[in-house]
Amino acid sequence: MSNGARNYPMRMSKFSKLLFTIAVGALVCWWYQQQQPGAQSGAFIAFLDVGQGDAIYIRTSSGADVLIDGGPGRAVLERLPEVMAPGDTTIELMLLTHPDADHITGLVETAKRYTVKQIVTTALPATKPLHEELWQLIETQQIEHLVVAAGDHITLGPQDYVDILYPAADDPLATLETNDTSIIAEYHYQQAGDDLAVLLTGDAGAYVEEQLVSRQLLQDIDILKVGHHGSKTSSSQALLDAVQPELCVLSVGQDNQYGHPKPEILERLQPYCEIRRTDQEGNIIINLEIDE
Ligand SMILES: [Zn+2]
Repeated sequence: MSNGARNYPMRMSKFSKLLFTIAVGALVCWWYQQQQPGAQSGAFIAFLDVGQGDAIYIRTSSGADVLIDGGPGRAVLERLPEVMAPGDTTIELMLLTHPDADHITGLVETAKRYTVKQIVTTALPATKPLHEELWQLIETQQIEHLVVAAGDHITLGPQDYVDILYPAADDPLATLETNDTSIIAEYHYQQAGDDLAVLLTGDAGAYVEEQLVSRQLLQDIDILKVGHHGSKTSSSQALLDAVQPELCVLSVGQDNQYGHPKPEILERLQPYCEIRRTDQEGNIIINLEIDE
């Protein structure tokens, strides 16, 4: 063909342009990923800013995604992409502390949109619509359902695990206030002989805290997820004395109608720990890897 000679160099230049575009595209993608909080490497825990409620995300040592409670409404759907790896739509483990709306709603929304492998709950039967909806999702999406009780141990990766401290298998869940059915779990991250412990308390009140103390289940921890958004019904002196936290995190909504956190609770926490709040900071992300 007569125009073959002209086409050849033109094709070369198109090819070079293509290579250049791919190279620039890859660079932009890499840069963009580096700018995303989800690109954070290693294990971390994020207390998500979901307003008045709890939603706690953990990236485990092996890169698995764990979500403990989902907060009220759909806020968690905006928060998860801020902490999960770009494009990741699988949550390996979901944990519902108790079925109150400010903990369960976001889990239901997440379970509808993400692939959830396992869900951890207590044996409390579902009696309210959102709770029933979650039970239905477990069935329709064939999510593995782990009903846990004190003494259970969940391995998350080579360096981290969750111990369930409460409720005990024979605690009378159906007769307790919903808050007092909250799963109390201790997340541990281990590295080079060091152990970092995070106590997750749901909305459990002083009754549960007394049980934990009298059953001698508490030990020195590093991070405390302050119970029930800083309500005065939680964070008893006995609990704080037993766990001696260094960092206390409050998951709480700005100007919430309950006046959480209560000033007397902040005062009680002060001598023990640095206090951080999602209503003041937004997402609170704590790197779990210990600098060697
Ligand atoms: Zn709550």
